[in-house]
Amino acid sequence: AKAEGRGIFRFFEAAMGTHLRERRQIEHDLRHAIPRDELRLVFQPQTRLNSEEILGFEVLLRWRHGTRGDISPSVFIPVAEECGVILQLGEWVLRTACAEAASWHQPLAIAVNVSRVQLHNGNLPQLVQEILATTGLAPERLELEVTETALIKDFDRALATLQQIKALGVKLAMDDFGTGYSSLSNLRAFPFDKIKIDQSFVRSVDSNEQSATIVRAIVGLAKGLNLPVLAEGVETADELRFLCREDCNEAQGYYLGRPGPIEQFRYLVDRETAD
Ligand code: C2E
Ligand code: CA
Ligand code: CA
Ligand code: CA
Repeated sequence: AKAEGRGIFRFFEAAMGTHLRERRQIEHDLRHAIPRDELRLVFQPQTRLNSEEILGFEVLLRWRHGTRGDISPSVFIPVAEECGVILQLGEWVLRTACAEAASWHQPLAIAVNVSRVQLHNGNLPQLVQEILATTGLAPERLELEVTETALIKDFDRALATLQQIKALGVKLAMDDFGTGYSSLSNLRAFPFDKIKIDQSFVRSVDSNEQSATIVRAIVGLAKGLNLPVLAEGVETADELRFLCREDCNEAQGYYLGRPGPIEQFRYLVDRETAD
């Protein structure tokens, strides 16, 4: 565990540019992760709160390095964004996730994370359109999760890109809501279909009056704007009870279901009839 800890630490150092050679190694290994079959997707349930019905899944990327073992996306995604290989990884995630969801018996939704680099690359709408056509996934079953930091650079271009994606019938969720610099104006300016409350607020909602007030306010804001709102990172029954009481629409978190390989959820996606 100690050696593993050191490994992770080195990855952080590398991500911060302290060890150029190490960082180049990560970049190099990331470029080979697809052909080496080291990438996997895991799925985390997103649950409707008043019925406890599972509406869909967030898709999360996992990398099992040949010699270093599992590396967290919060470590390798920033490196992939900086060296541009996120474009290949992002395309792989989108294509694999859409193909997987298209094969299900039940038309559950999938939410896929999209990096700011993908958003500003220019061809994301065309790519999404092509992948939907190739896989046969109904556009309304796909939701793209975008964080505010993706919207900072080049407002006009980000807006045009999101509008084109929305025109395909794909849904847009604002991820990590409340952690950015101008959440409210971004919410007004961009065509989002859903708000995801950041887990840092949800985590302490039952113990911290400030967090409770913030979550209450975000839920109220979403209601006022007629947008569904999902609370992320729900870990306890108390947190869930609070969210139900505040009339939050949806939730996601370890208490409701940990991310896992799709095999774990076969009983949901391949059952013959809906509830
Ligand atoms: P995110 O989009 O905010 O994803 C939610 C993260 O919270 C995931 O971490 C998930 O496993 C974790 N999580 C879910 N429920 C709970 C909970 O109850 N408690 C706690 N403590 N954590 C919970 P993960 O999978 O390590 O991903 C970290 C971040 O890496 C993601 O944050 C996202 O920004 C990025 N990421 C992951 N997969 C992809 C991807 O395919 N593409 C892109 N661009 N980014 C990705
Ligand atoms: Ca997300
Ligand atoms: Ca999030
Ligand atoms: Ca708590």
